[in-house]
Amino acid sequence: MMDAARVRFARALARKSLQEFGATGPPLPVEDVLHFYGLTLAREPQEPAWSGSLHGDRVLVNANHPETRQRFTAAHELGHVRLGHVTLEPACLDLEPGAGPPKRLTPAQVADALFAERVWLQEVEANEFAAELLAPRAWVKAFYRDLRDPDRMAALFGLSRQAMWLACLRAGCIKYRYRARW
Ligand SMILES: [Zn+2]
Repeated sequence: MMDAARVRFARALARKSLQEFGATGPPLPVEDVLHFYGLTLAREPQEPAWSGSLHGDRVLVNANHPETRQRFTAAHELGHVRLGHVTLEPACLDLEPGAGPPKRLTPAQVADALFAERVWLQEVEANEFAAELLAPRAWVKAFYRDLRDPDRMAALFGLSRQAMWLACLRAGCIKYRYRARW
């Protein structure tokens, strides 16, 4: 389960980063933002399932992906840096004193499970950071007020149509309505 407080923190940190950088509106010059935080961006063709990675201060994204996807990946990797994910400490085991790990699980299995959980949480957090960095709620609301068209906004924000629709939904500009068809 994703903790709402962690989501809020990731999004708040994205807005703070925009402020520090001095971003004024879409499309966010994501490569410049990376530079601002001491990172360089490189593009390399990779297989389709591979999005990007972080090597020290070098962010690598898949050149075979659409530009919108590369922008999101770059913002996601910046999220890992800003959220402090790159200085991974060993997972903390906060168990009852003397209780030990649950029976039938070896300590290695517990550590693996905690590591997997942590990696997953970090991926979610980095995605939240990236979504808010590229489409902060205030920009989305302002542009929706004028345009009322997420598809046109997608081009302006440098986002995929899907990501832009999601951002509009999250900002409360549009409502998800499920209508049963008979
Ligand atoms: Zn990641």
